[in-house]
Amino acid sequence: MEIIDAIPIDLDPNSVKTKLKTTDLQSITELTRQALSLAEPRAVFTAAYIEKKDDDQVVIDGQCFKSRVLRKNLDDVGRVFPAVVTIGHRIEKAARQSADMLTQYYLDQIGNLILAEARSELIRRLCRQFALDKLSWMSPGSLEDWPIQAQVQLFALFGEAPAAIGVQLTESLLMLPGKSVSGIFFPSASTFFSCRLCPRERCEGRKARYDETAAREYGILK
Ligand code: SF4
Repeated sequence: MEIIDAIPIDLDPNSVKTKLKTTDLQSITELTRQALSLAEPRAVFTAAYIEKKDDDQVVIDGQCFKSRVLRKNLDDVGRVFPAVVTIGHRIEKAARQSADMLTQYYLDQIGNLILAEARSELIRRLCRQFALDKLSWMSPGSLEDWPIQAQVQLFALFGEAPAAIGVQLTESLLMLPGKSVSGIFFPSASTFFSCRLCPRERCEGRKARYDETAAREYGILK
């Protein structure tokens, strides 16, 4: 089990401005600086081995994960990297304490960008450390095929380690702080996006178009 205590984050206010679709560079620059000073980007990860593969489930270090999509993504994989990434609770707290709704929104969105950057930095580190070309990831709850209940098995792989980076799993299987992500990172020839298999309409976080053919190939659409 490895803990990364301070993930370096580089966030350009200009790119934040573009992503947030605003022209107010001055406010975005100030809020980006504030958010970066409040962020506590940390991660815990482990290298884990696949012990068994069935049609729609896979056993990783003694934990059984039932998901057709995860199983197919691990067709040619023997080792994966379960991980939890967080940026702490201070950005959310600052957003809550602001009386201005736009500031609340910007801080929340900048927090999401910092969290995404922390996850990307973890991927770069894993690729360097384990001599891998590319890693993709899947998170419990991102698809019906792999519901949020899989957090129980995922967190069982970490033991007490998430507490060391300030993350706890609640009884309702949400993570605290809210600006945290968990998942299984795995080597892949091309980047896998759960969004390709997710038919949800009007999702601001969509990273790839829904692909019905791919959903059929993965066996989650008949
Ligand atoms: S489209 Fe939205 S809900 Fe669906 S997987 Fe992507 S980010 Fe998640």
